[in-house]
Amino acid sequence: MSARAGIVVTGTEVLTGRVTDRNGPWLAEQLRQLGVDVGHVVLVGDRPEDMQGALAFLAGTGVSLVITSGGLGPTADDLTAEVVGEFQGRPSAVDPALEQRIAVVVERLMARRGWRADPDATAAGVRKQAQVPGGAMVLEPVGTAPGLVVPPSDGRDGPTVLVLPGPPSELQGMWPAAVAAEPVQQALAGRTELRQETVRLWGTLEAELAVVLRDHDAELSGLEVTTCIREGELEIVTRYAPEAQPAYDRLGALLTRTFDHTLFSTGPTLDEIVATGFAERGLTVATAESCTGGMLAARLTERPGSSAWVLGGVTAYANSAKEQLLGVPADVLAEHGAVSPEVALALAEGARARFGADVGVGITGVAGPGGGTADKPVGTVHLCVVGPEGPQLRALRLPGSRAVVRERSVTMAMHLLRVLLVGGPPA
Ligand code: ATP
Ligand code: MG
Repeated sequence: MSARAGIVVTGTEVLTGRVTDRNGPWLAEQLRQLGVDVGHVVLVGDRPEDMQGALAFLAGTGVSLVITSGGLGPTADDLTAEVVGEFQGRPSAVDPALEQRIAVVVERLMARRGWRADPDATAAGVRKQAQVPGGAMVLEPVGTAPGLVVPPSDGRDGPTVLVLPGPPSELQGMWPAAVAAEPVQQALAGRTELRQETVRLWGTLEAELAVVLRDHDAELSGLEVTTCIREGELEIVTRYAPEAQPAYDRLGALLTRTFDHTLFSTGPTLDEIVATGFAERGLTVATAESCTGGMLAARLTERPGSSAWVLGGVTAYANSAKEQLLGVPADVLAEHGAVSPEVALALAEGARARFGADVGVGITGVAGPGGGTADKPVGTVHLCVVGPEGPQLRALRLPGSRAVVRERSVTMAMHLLRVLLVGGPPA
């Protein structure tokens, strides 16, 4: 059995959804890469008794390490260090040297931002952040808050608690020092390698996969297979110990054999495949979008370096914009309507020509909820990708809300680009 850890994410703003938790999943993935299994991420508000409850629960699961995030600031609702100290039987006291180091950081920060604050109140905040449970190890602040490694007090059983700040950049910045800390290494002593592989299918239903996995259950022992459907993609993530590699090889072969018509990746995401495809083939792209309002251009430019292959895009909502900015002929619009394969093709060709790109993409559709007709109901979307080898067209009837129709249209366009760039299963 590999070493196990638990995570407590604190913060009423995270509990209520005003801020989306980025620390729990990030920490869980870092731990997975270290070969440490995580069974629970517990989310609690800024209440000491709830935090205590979470620590007690995780300690009860037998983990050797608990990591907390958040609640290390200077304000009264930042309670984590104190609660953890009490939980571990280590009362806190001010560490004067640390207090001085934090004071310097805070002073510098205030000067840079031009803040003015009551010196006594500032000093009280600094003193609070310099409270260290007796015998705990201090991790130097990345922002103003130090992290802490708090082992159980002498003679007591239970997990070591690693206390990290809430802001994701601070938590991530502190992570290397936290992992290197001797008491953390000790807590993770039992860790072994945990492998993880991902396979992505486009167009296979979860139920189909379930039948195949059930039929081959006996050959796949030692594998922890989880599946997730996201935007029409079936993502299969498998974790296993190195001893189960032969079982994973069998699963990989089984998936490749059974789903050869939908398996498009054994690792990288769709967006990574498309980006690599453009970079490796040295092609450029331009977009002309109606119902997706620039979402494809945004997605293509999300990653750094995309300026090497994205030339630009036009959001052409009105017919006049389609005509004037992209050269869609007025008679094509009049004859076939704005939502038609002919207009999708003209948009793609217009983008390609006007930007001088190797590849043009056109998207036009009825995203809803209004605007549908009997022969072009809400969810009707026409896509076209024109490359050096001519056009690929796709007509879609997408179910779902406006947001879903728009997102799925963009994903479908990404798949058309994937097929053009690297081939593989059809979009
Ligand atoms: P600070 O010194 O900034 O107060 P802190 O350690 O006390 O640091 P929190 O008060 O818990 O941290 O959180 C500060 C801010 O950091 C939050 O308002 C939020 O914007 C961000 N943050 C905290 N926890 C998370 C989280 N789990 N996921 C994403 N952002 C978070
Ligand atoms: Mg805070």
